Amino acid sequence: MPDRNPNQARPDELEEAAARSSFKDHQEKVRVALSGLAAAHTQKMQETPNRSWLMHYYDDLLYHSWDPWGQIAQLAQTQGRKVVGTFCVFAPDELIYAAGALPVRLDAGADEAIAEGEQELGTVNICPMIKSSMGLKRLNLPFAGEARLDLVVIPSVCDGKKKLVDFFAHYVPTWMVQVPHTALDPRVRDYWRTEMRLLRENLEDFTGHRIKPNELSEAIRIHNRKRQAIRRLYELRKAPLPPISGRDAMLVVATAYHDDLYRWVEQTERLCVELEEHVRRGVSVTEPGALRLMLAGCPIVPPNWKVPDILEELGGVIVTDDLCTGSRGYWYLVGEDGRSVEEMVTALADRYIMCECPCFVPNTPRLKRIVESVEAWRVKGVVYYQLTFCHTLNLEAMEVERALDRIKTPMCKIDTDYSEQGAEALRTRLESFLETLGSGARRGVPGLILPGTQPSQSAPFWMNLSLPPELSGERPMVAAPSTRSGPLPSSKRQGERPAAAPALPIAAIPATAPSTIASPTAPMASYQLLVSGRKAIPLLANVEYTLGRNAALAQGEIDLTEYGANENQGVSRKHARLVVSAQGCFLEDLQSRNGTFVNGRRLAAGERCQLSGGEQISLAQFAFRIDKA
Ligand code: SF4
Ligand code: SF4
Repeated sequence: MPDRNPNQARPDELEEAAARSSFKDHQEKVRVALSGLAAAHTQKMQETPNRSWLMHYYDDLLYHSWDPWGQIAQLAQTQGRKVVGTFCVFAPDELIYAAGALPVRLDAGADEAIAEGEQELGTVNICPMIKSSMGLKRLNLPFAGEARLDLVVIPSVCDGKKKLVDFFAHYVPTWMVQVPHTALDPRVRDYWRTEMRLLRENLEDFTGHRIKPNELSEAIRIHNRKRQAIRRLYELRKAPLPPISGRDAMLVVATAYHDDLYRWVEQTERLCVELEEHVRRGVSVTEPGALRLMLAGCPIVPPNWKVPDILEELGGVIVTDDLCTGSRGYWYLVGEDGRSVEEMVTALADRYIMCECPCFVPNTPRLKRIVESVEAWRVKGVVYYQLTFCHTLNLEAMEVERALDRIKTPMCKIDTDYSEQGAEALRTRLESFLETLGSGARRGVPGLILPGTQPSQSAPFWMNLSLPPELSGERPMVAAPSTRSGPLPSSKRQGERPAAAPALPIAAIPATAPSTIASPTAPMASYQLLVSGRKAIPLLANVEYTLGRNAALAQGEIDLTEYGANENQGVSRKHARLVVSAQGCFLEDLQSRNGTFVNGRRLAAGERCQLSGGEQISLAQFAFRIDKA
């Protein structure tokens, strides 16, 4: 037998290489499909009349959710942090943060990953969320950084989640948080507090970082700020003419783990400020009389938004929800008056057990909150989203229906999965439900209420009646019972960040241009213009770009109609000027009719604003971003 050529690969090596390349192909196919779904969703949502241009930020985060080099992966690398994946609403993000790691939620909504999940779990009758999450892990597809997961924390809630601990352990270290079956029995309180202490110790061992009081205090503070921003967004949807669609509100919440937390919070607070102005001016994404709906049931995870899509395409408007992917994880604050780490861990335990997960028995707090929400948001009908094989939610649906019956609010239970099969039947069913609600379903795009055409003479009545307490400052949002009383130590006063805190990321997006100009001798930074869902436009140095509609296609002219800008959005033919030079990147308004905005601030005529990268720019209502390349 002749000797084997040493340069020739062995059959097993060839087989391994073929398997690797077919895995890569499959992975890329799924990634492209998911990003494509996100882009299609964004495109559809951008047609919503009066949609805030600030939504562009969240569109972008969604589109890049499956990028191999997403925001979270970048933050983890640059800050040297580990990434900890979580499921459900029981793993305190504050502990993960304070231990020096980044938390990401792994609940997945990708039908495209289910077959891959079944390779691991088998074709068992388990909910699509479990299969999809397993599939994305196997494909190593980075849902906000999943590709480099260092640890996964899974609460022992339903059977599927419990068993997932074993399956994930084949790929990554896992830790199960043992959730009690009830939140109401006082005997479980000590048990649950001990469980949280164990989680803290485990995280500290894992990251090698012992949590200090100022670090945990700061982590609690920023997470409470995140909750307040989400709650504020929900309160705005109580307005008779909601300023944001249900799908966009879901997008905001869904992306809460996809970026630097500080930047996300700042953006969401800015969004709330803009939407409050919309409410004052009567600017809405719906027409008067649109059916006000509530979603309840299983988690609804992007890109699987088919039920919310159908409901709002039929002319309904989702004004609130009872979902783990919506309000459930954000309704209650953590008490901020703990001084030692132990006291703060106790406050976290007491807050996290308040989540009304349907796994709890009895679950009267959940029923009570659903009924109260129906009344507070003046909901006409509830759509109960039931994923196949989720027995817990399925059994509780009857209780929810009875509770709603008592307040004469109809409920429609939709049994579904992540596939597109049966979408037409689903649409017909939901359409007839909306028709039974009284005023009938309205088809097509909701009527346009032009910004500024109907300024209200006085504050709308709902604002006087139910202005959210945390906005009016009358009383605080519900916080978990405090662990001690007395004044806060000076290092924990609201708004202060402890000096000794770890390098928690702060993404400072300046509201105004920085006052200092880069030294001409500094190396010239490269910039790019990013329109959501489109290829980045690199900006050449020392070229004066004119931005507008139908600009001549010469160097230095960027025709934004190519990127979706149109006259209805108020973009002028020659709207703004952009230049990158050794001194930096500068934007100037060209006396446009509808204005140029940087992070929500309108540039004065002739003002030249220096950009540092990362700003949200808007030419009238057409939004984009300038980033460092
Ligand atoms: S309902 Fe409970 S178990 Fe199910 S996803 Fe939500 S928190 Fe987890
Ligand atoms: S949807 Fe139901 S079965 Fe699936 S993870 Fe949540 S509680 Fe468990």
